[in-house]
Amino acid sequence: MTDRKIALVTGASKGIGAAIAISLAKDGFDIWLNYRSDHEKASEIAETIHDNGAKCILIPFDVSDINSASKALDPYLEKEVPYALINNAGFSKDTLLVWMKQEEWKDVLSVTLDGFFNVTKLVLNYMLRKKQGRIINIASTSGQSGMPGQVNYSAAKSGLIGASKALALEIGKRNILVNVVSPGFIDTEMTKDFLKERVLMMIPMGRFGKDYEVAQTVSFLCSDKASYITGQVINVNGGAYM
Ligand code: NAP
Repeated sequence: MTDRKIALVTGASKGIGAAIAISLAKDGFDIWLNYRSDHEKASEIAETIHDNGAKCILIPFDVSDINSASKALDPYLEKEVPYALINNAGFSKDTLLVWMKQEEWKDVLSVTLDGFFNVTKLVLNYMLRKKQGRIINIASTSGQSGMPGQVNYSAAKSGLIGASKALALEIGKRNILVNVVSPGFIDTEMTKDFLKERVLMMIPMGRFGKDYEVAQTVSFLCSDKASYITGQVINVNGGAYM
C-alpha cells in the first residue's frame, strides 16, 4: 500500500503513452504501465519512471481482449485503485475505404472502442466505490474533422468522444471526471511514414507536436487544477482543427 496516487496508462511502452506515464510520474503518481508487446521499450520507460522517484508496475495485455485485460488487472485492482485511467492504446491501419479489408476496419475499432470499454469497465467499479477519479481518453483530430484514408480510425476516435461525453454525464456526481485529449499530428512511430510536406500545410503552427505536449495536457487534467472540468475535448493540435 502507498499514499501516492496511481495512474494506469494503456499503450505506454512508447510514444504519447510513454510520455504521459513519465509526466504523471513527475507529478507524483505511481504508474501501472500497460502495453502489448514491446517489453524492451516498456522496461526502459519503467526505468525512467523509477529515476523520477515513482513506482512502476508493467502490466502487458491486449486492451481489445476482455479476458486478458481482466486476468492481468484484477489481481492489482483487488489491492489498490488507480486515481487516474488514461485510455491511450491505439493504432491506425490507413487505406481508402474502397480498399479497406474488414479486418482493418474491425481491428482499429476494437483497439479503440473495445479497449476503452474493457479497461474502463474493470477499473470503474473500484473508482465508484472511492468516489473519486479521472478518466482521460486519447482521441484524435481525425475523429473530429474526418481524414481521408482513415474511415476506420475517424469512426473509432469519433465513437470514443461520444462514449466519453456519455460517461461524463453518468458519473459526474460521483466525482469521477471524464475528458478527452485530442492530439493532431504528433511525432511518434505512428506518424513516421507520413508525407511531412503535405501534412505541414494543414497545421497553422507549421510543425508536428511533441509527445510531451500531449502529456502535459493530460497531467493538467489529472491535477487538482482541473477539478471542475468534465465531458470536454481538449485539442492539442497546433491549430489543425478549431
Ligand atoms: P505508438 O507510438 O505507435 O504507440 C502505441 C502504443 O500502444 C504502444 O505502447 C503499443 O504497445 C500500444 N498498443 C497498441 N495496441 C495495443 C493493444 N491492443 N493493447 C495494449 N497496448 C497496445 O502510438 P502513438 O502515436 O503514441 O499513439 C498513442 C495514442 O495517441 C493512440 O491512441 C493514437 O491513436 C493517438 N494519437 C496519435 C497521434 C499521432 O500523431 N501520433 C495523433 C492523434 C492521436 P506495443 O508497442 O508494446 O505493442
